[in-house]
Amino acid sequence: MKDKKILLSEKEIPEKWYNIMADMPNKPLPPLNPATREPIGPDALAPIFPMGLIAQEVSTEKWIEIPDEIRDIYKLWRPSPMYRAYNLEKALDTPAKIYYKYEGVSPAGSHKPNTAIAQAYYNKQEGVKRITTETGAGQWGSALALACNFFGIECEVYMVRISYDHKPYRKVMMNTWGAQVFPSPSDRTEAGRKILAMDPNSPGSLGIAISEAIERAVMDENTKYSLGSVLNHVLLHQTVIGQEAVKQMEMAGDLPDIIVAPFGGGSNFAGLSFPFLRLNFEEGKKIRAIASEPASCPKLTRGQFRYDFGDTIGMTPLLPMYTLGHNFVPAPIHAGGLRYHGAGILVSQLLKDKLIEARAHNQIECFEAGILFAKTEAIIPAPEANHGIATAIQEARKCKEEGVSRTILIHLCGHGNFDMGAYEAYFSGKLTEHELTEKEIANSLAELDTPMIG
Ligand SMILES: *Cc1c(COP(=O)(O)O)cnc(C)c1O
Repeated sequence: MKDKKILLSEKEIPEKWYNIMADMPNKPLPPLNPATREPIGPDALAPIFPMGLIAQEVSTEKWIEIPDEIRDIYKLWRPSPMYRAYNLEKALDTPAKIYYKYEGVSPAGSHKPNTAIAQAYYNKQEGVKRITTETGAGQWGSALALACNFFGIECEVYMVRISYDHKPYRKVMMNTWGAQVFPSPSDRTEAGRKILAMDPNSPGSLGIAISEAIERAVMDENTKYSLGSVLNHVLLHQTVIGQEAVKQMEMAGDLPDIIVAPFGGGSNFAGLSFPFLRLNFEEGKKIRAIASEPASCPKLTRGQFRYDFGDTIGMTPLLPMYTLGHNFVPAPIHAGGLRYHGAGILVSQLLKDKLIEARAHNQIECFEAGILFAKTEAIIPAPEANHGIATAIQEARKCKEEGVSRTILIHLCGHGNFDMGAYEAYFSGKLTEHELTEKEIANSLAELDTPMIG
């Protein structure tokens, strides 16, 4: 019998986070103050983040120690398992070897607690009493609710309206761990009221919810804000995934040729791929990392690389990133966690330098991929994860056509057990293809007056 699972012991939970900034040939450009267009210093972030996280945000140290208290909580679900997808390989009749790293074993059901626990820890260290945040599909809000609960911090979540209506059980999950949840846009903030005045039926967007959560944090000195993706420190925390995966691939006697992961703001993609990209930088390996995004929110494949705001109202610094424009409101597709207009600056720079790749998929193709995965490997993937699976299936089919075997590693970054509404919509034929026209993208980008890059 061949081994299906590749498991590590608790002792092998990584002791350090890997900071890819140290190895990047071109460092990302600095964030800019929107008013002066001058680079901002770390102090500009102090009203919304604790200094411990700001230090990580700007750090160029290659390895950053993980405090024992955090590793202790990680033990609840880490190290996470890796599997060989024998059944999927068989169904595709492909010579490719397919593996997947599964983060759905965390209590919140995704990779998000890896950073939520770390962020709550550093906030607690600095005496923060309340943390505000946004959530799209509810994965991030759940993870932060869990983490704040461990550290005795209040948690206030602005949940994108469309998801709030579609995913009531995610809200109850957050409530169970003690968080307060509000649909966004809400009437609790200037930002929310402004959007509601323009469109009382706004489905919301991550950009709007971020504006609301930041506004609340800026108003109160004991309140800080927390972001579940995009920022350097978030991507850093997620590198525990890839470090484990490097060891697990070694145990399997293999090395991936191709890594695929869904892409929202970049955290799960970075978490799995950065420790493998380290092998490219250090040992000259040629591992390809492909970020898979929805055709309805294609910032990596069709956006522009330029300075833009991280939120809709323009409260964040200007960040050098691939973007569709901060006013972009994506179509209400079901992969809620991927509906964000921009990409993290580390991943953006890596894409610009052609050190990673990106690919877009429409949502019907993604659900077909996810359902094939569920039927063969049994786990029902989060709709976001289906995007990476769709890329993997394309690559496995290409192996068959070309008659070559490649090793493909999929990031199964979450389960879809709270996403039955989305699967139901697929089964009842209610999901439609939604691909943006050139005009829609051009219109959204035309609203920007921020600096172009390169
Ligand atoms: C949040 C989330 C994503 C998208 O965010 P990234 O930062 O790009 O990882 C993707 N998949 C799942 C399961 C998520 O919870």
